[in-house]
Amino acid sequence: MAYFINDDCILCGACEPECPNQAISEGKTKYVINPERCAECVGSFPASRCAEVCPVDACHPDPAHPEDKTQLLEKWRKMHLGEKPAEGTY
Ligand code: SF4
Ligand code: SF4
Repeated sequence: MAYFINDDCILCGACEPECPNQAISEGKTKYVINPERCAECVGSFPASRCAEVCPVDACHPDPAHPEDKTQLLEKWRKMHLGEKPAEGTY
């Protein structure tokens, strides 16, 4: 399930460099997550980095993009060809 950023975002920018999949970018009124690139940090981190670093708790799973761990890991593999997923992240 891709994450999304709600309207509580204060445009601090802390999340963008933390995303292992370059899924986050600055939008007009808040930062935004590309659901095609968000793999819930599966393959990279044991928990979602954007949610961990956000100071206002604006990053949440998006029910509009349901995916299980197998699908998320496959998504990660397509973006990280030749790499091995980190232990404990999938
Ligand atoms: S959950 Fe992980 S992969 Fe998804 S946007 Fe946040 S930091 Fe990026
Ligand atoms: S860390 Fe949170 S408040 Fe800062 S830009 Fe990202 S979503 Fe917005």
